Amino acid sequence: VPAFQIITTRHLEELRSILGNENVLTDQPALEIYGRDETEDLFFPPEVIVRPSTADEVSAVLRVASRERIAVTPRGGGTGLSGGALPIYGGIVLAMERFNRILEIDEVNFQAVVEPGVITETFQRAVEEKGLYYPPDPASRGSSHIGGNLAECAGGPHAVKYGVTRDYVLALEAVLPSGKPLHVGARVLKNATGYSLAHLLIGSEGTLAVITKIFLRLLPLPRHRKVLLAAFPSVEKAMTAVASVFRGGVTPATCEFLERAAVEVAEQRLGKKFPNGQAAAQLIIEVDGDHEPALAEEIQAVAQAVEEQGATDLLLAEDPPKIREVWDLRRGIGEAVKAISAYKEEDTVVPRSRLPELIAGVKQICAHHKIRSICYGHAGDGNVHVNLLKADMDQNLWARSSEEAVGEIFRLTVSLGGTLSGEHGIGYVQRGFLPIAVHEESIRLMTEIKRVFDPAGILNPGKVFPP
Ligand SMILES: Cc1cc2nc3c(=O)[nH]c(=O)nc-3n(C[C@H](O)[C@H](O)[C@H](O)COP(=O)(O)OP(=O)(O)OC[C@H]3O[C@@H](n4cnc5c(N)ncnc54)[C@H](O)[C@@H]3O)c2cc1C
Repeated sequence: VPAFQIITTRHLEELRSILGNENVLTDQPALEIYGRDETEDLFFPPEVIVRPSTADEVSAVLRVASRERIAVTPRGGGTGLSGGALPIYGGIVLAMERFNRILEIDEVNFQAVVEPGVITETFQRAVEEKGLYYPPDPASRGSSHIGGNLAECAGGPHAVKYGVTRDYVLALEAVLPSGKPLHVGARVLKNATGYSLAHLLIGSEGTLAVITKIFLRLLPLPRHRKVLLAAFPSVEKAMTAVASVFRGGVTPATCEFLERAAVEVAEQRLGKKFPNGQAAAQLIIEVDGDHEPALAEEIQAVAQAVEEQGATDLLLAEDPPKIREVWDLRRGIGEAVKAISAYKEEDTVVPRSRLPELIAGVKQICAHHKIRSICYGHAGDGNVHVNLLKADMDQNLWARSSEEAVGEIFRLTVSLGGTLSGEHGIGYVQRGFLPIAVHEESIRLMTEIKRVFDPAGILNPGKVFPP
C-alpha cells in the first residue's frame, strides 16, 4: 500500500488559498456523494473535495499533492461502473464539474472544443442544433462527462457503426501529476507526428494526467433513422442473428441485445410496456443515413437476415417519438437492473460470431454458482453486459461465488478471443483480473508508462493494475 500523507489543516489552508473556500469541501454530505460512483455499493470517502475551474488551478493542486505525496482522484460525472472515480486511499477528489463550457463549435471544419466537465448529452444536443453529430453515446449520457468518457474510452449503442470516444479525439490539453501542462495531438484529421500521446491518455482511467481541454471531431447529422425491433424465441437465436445482420451487407448504426429479464426490469421500473416484451430475446437494430429509400432497402435486408435466423415478430419504428420511446426503455435498463439487489456488472467483449458461445457459457457458469444473471448490451460490437445479482444469497457465499463466477466468465471470454472490458474500464473492481487478458510483458510496459507520467504515484492510485 503506498504511504500517502493524511490531509492536515495546513494542506486545507493551502488548497483554500488556491481555490477559494467554496471550492474546497470537507462536509459530510459532500464526502458521502464524492465517495461513491455507480459501481456496485462501494464507498470510499475522500478527505477533501476540490473543484477547480482552470488548468492553472488543477496544476496548483497537483503541485501541492506531489510535494506532499497526497493521493488525487479525478472525477467526472461519477457514473463509472469500474470504480475509477473512487478515492480508495482517501486524499483529494479532483471534481471536474466546473469545467463545463462548450468553448467552440466549428461548423466549417466539423470540430468542437470542450471542457471535460460538459455533460455528454448537453454537448450532443448543442452540436445537433447545428446539424452536426457527435456519436459516442453511453447510456449514462444524461449525467456522464465528456472528460469521463475520454478517460474510460466510452462507447455506447452507436459505436458499432461510428466507433468509440477515442475515434473522435483530435487533441487534448492536460496536466501531469507534477503540475506541468501538457498539449498533445493537433486540430487535424490526420496526424502521423510522433507517438500518439492523446490516444494513450484516452482510456487511461485518470491514472496518467488530468484532462482539461478536449478537441473533438464531428460528423454531419444523419437526416433519417429507422429502428427495427426483432423478437426471438431464444437468446441463442438472437445472438446467432447478430453476425448475420452484418453478413447481409448492412452496417447498422446500432445492434443491441436484450434478454427478457432485462426488458422486464426496465418495464417495471419505468411503468411502460416494451413492444414484444414477452419474447425470450430481442435485437434493436437502427439504420441511419440521408437517403430515405436507401434506408428502407437496408431495413428490408436486415429484416430478411433476422427472419432467416428465426426472428418471430418484427416491429418498425420510423417517427422520432416512437424511436425515442424505444431508446428511453433501452437506456433505462442499467438503472433498473442495479435497483434490484447487490450486483456485479461485467463488460465482456468477444468477436460477434462468438456471442452464442459467450452467452451459453455465462448462463452455465451462473447456474453452477446459483447466481441469477441478466444480460444485455451492444451485441453488434460483441459487447455484452453481464449482470450478476446477489438477490437472497448469504453475503459470504455471494462474495465467494460471485468472485469465482466473474473469474470463470473472464477466462471464457478470453478463450473466445475476447477481453475483459469493452467500454467501462478496469478501474478498481476488475484490476485483479487484468492478467487473465493482458500478458505479463504488456502489464510491465504499462506500469513503466505509469511511472514516467506519475513518478510519485499520486494520481488515481490503486486502479487498473493488479494489487
Ligand atoms: C446506467 C449506466 C449506463 C451506462 N452505459 C454506458 C454505455 O452505454 N457505454 C459506456 O461506455 N459506459 C456506460 N456507462 C459507464 C459510464 O457512464 C462511463 O464509463 C462514463 O464514461 C463515465 O464518465 P463519468 O464522467 O461519469 O466519469 P467518472 O465515473 O466520474 O470517472 C471515470 C474515470 O474517469 C476519470 N476521469 C474523469 N474525469 C477526468 C479528467 N478530466 N481527466 C482525467 N481523468 C478523468 C476518473 O478518474 C475515473 O477513473 C454507464 C453507466 C451507467 C450508470
